[in-house]
Amino acid sequence: MTTDTTSAPNFIRNQIRDEIEGGRADKVVTRFPPEPNGFLHIGHAKSICLNFGLAEQFGGDCHLRFDDTNPAKEEQAFIDAIKADVEWLGFQWAGEVRFASDYFDQLYAWAQHLIREGKAYVDDLSPDEIREYRGTLTEPGKPSPYRERSADENLDLLERMRAGEFDEGTKVLRAKIDMAAPNINLRDPILYRIRHAHHHQTGDKWKIYPSYDFTHGQSDALEGVTHSICTLEFEDHRPLYEWFLANLPVPCVPRQIEFARLNLNYTLTSKRKLKLLVDEQIVDGWDDPRMPTISGMRRRGYTPASIRKFCEMIGVTRADGGLVEIAMLTHAIRSDLEDNAPRAMCVLKPLKVVLTNVPEGHEEVYDVPGHPARDDLGVRKVPFSREIYIDHDDFMEEPPKKFFRLAPGKEVRLRNSYVIRCDEVVKDAAGDVTALHCSVDFDTLGKNPEGRKVKGVIHWVSADHGVPMEVRLYDNLFQVEQPDKDKDADFLEHLNPESLQVCQAIGEPSLAEVAPESRFQFERVGYFCADRHACVDGKRVFNRTVGLKDGWAKIQKNDGQKKG
Ligand code: ATP
Ligand code: MG
Repeated sequence: MTTDTTSAPNFIRNQIRDEIEGGRADKVVTRFPPEPNGFLHIGHAKSICLNFGLAEQFGGDCHLRFDDTNPAKEEQAFIDAIKADVEWLGFQWAGEVRFASDYFDQLYAWAQHLIREGKAYVDDLSPDEIREYRGTLTEPGKPSPYRERSADENLDLLERMRAGEFDEGTKVLRAKIDMAAPNINLRDPILYRIRHAHHHQTGDKWKIYPSYDFTHGQSDALEGVTHSICTLEFEDHRPLYEWFLANLPVPCVPRQIEFARLNLNYTLTSKRKLKLLVDEQIVDGWDDPRMPTISGMRRRGYTPASIRKFCEMIGVTRADGGLVEIAMLTHAIRSDLEDNAPRAMCVLKPLKVVLTNVPEGHEEVYDVPGHPARDDLGVRKVPFSREIYIDHDDFMEEPPKKFFRLAPGKEVRLRNSYVIRCDEVVKDAAGDVTALHCSVDFDTLGKNPEGRKVKGVIHWVSADHGVPMEVRLYDNLFQVEQPDKDKDADFLEHLNPESLQVCQAIGEPSLAEVAPESRFQFERVGYFCADRHACVDGKRVFNRTVGLKDGWAKIQKNDGQKKG
């Protein structure tokens, strides 16, 4: 038995359906709230598919809101990249792009409101002292000596913090909740910090910036969000999320629902660590095809449909800690390309073959289907001539028994063409094979004559017509399943030194003029995508998206056998 890979349980979807059917909800408004401090990765894709997917499914809206409360780490370039990634995945946000900073005035007014209600105060303790006073999981915290300031004094101090009168780190605004609360998030959390920083949206207007906790739920409420969906690390913040909504005159009360984040083996899903790979130039930018970023996957040749399919396959649960097999992601892209990518022949490690009984200048052109099952993908012209290239790996001078490719004295079929026999091996002074002399059996075009069994079929490209191109073979960036498992160790130690291999390849002429981002199956080799940006010495660059072997099908088969 194999598990159904098309869709997996999604408890949030079920819950919302129940609410709607039970008359407890009549609309769905969700939001995707990235912090613009890096590019989005595959984990964010899960959150995007979930939030936008729910809005789509239930006829609601999903907002794109930048959670931009930390100007020091944020940049316009990240905002642009995030918008492009969401759109490329096939989603459109409702209305304009929103920013938490759109609500800074309202948040400030609400901070004053809390002060007037005796529910917030300005604290002069240093960051270290605040930590010390906060207590631990086993010990209650103790109140700051500044906790009982009058509302007037607090309002005045907050105004002066905002005006830039105080240095960073000298004062904060805190909610006055409960220094002995078992949940540490409720021990007088920080609402505002002093930051004399320029903000990409608000310029130099603010010298204080609200905390994530003081911003998020209120932004949700201001936008009429109904279901505020986030990852499990925010579960302990939910009481605080609810405290603000209960203690402020908000226009509506959204509900926070948590789900387990995506962790993928051999892959990092932390913007901070991915940023390090970029900053240290370990990879070629955020969209390096080895990166698990959406733009990296795009450049690698993934399709939006395959990423959405993968997000559907993994489902949505509250069970944390699981590691999803990257083979499941590659399965999703492979099956998409299997159905949709045109075929072509490309020789990654060219070995020249002279077909000695084909006259010089001879040319034949075959009409070959673009895809075996898709007439709509047309036919391509595949020329044949006296000199061709085959892949070095398809020849062995001393082959083992079950090698059904080319060897001295042996026959093999050229895909879509004749059977050839290897008559002579040409070597250089070092003894390396540099060319083969073969002869063509002209009786074999498109058929095996009676009594002839030729098992092997290899791909090839006419030397006269082939186009030189650079092919980049990518492998996992990390050699171990959980590169950041050990928090004290350096995850860079687990980098795979062979994550990129470059081949000077020769492709069939149909590959000469392809548009960037065109995807192909190179027959017998794998799936490839014409690079979005790169050309080297005028040559097109192709990135290997994924190989032909389906590791996920194998894992499922083994699982099925284990289960009996
Ligand atoms: P990172 O740890 O990579 O910086 P983040 O949570 O800090 O991620 P945000 O920009 O704040 O990044 O994330 C936007 C949304 O994406 C949040 O709702 C967050 O919960 C969600 N998200 C982030 N990482 C994952 C993940 N691995 N799986 C599912 N959702 C995720
Ligand atoms: Mg975050």
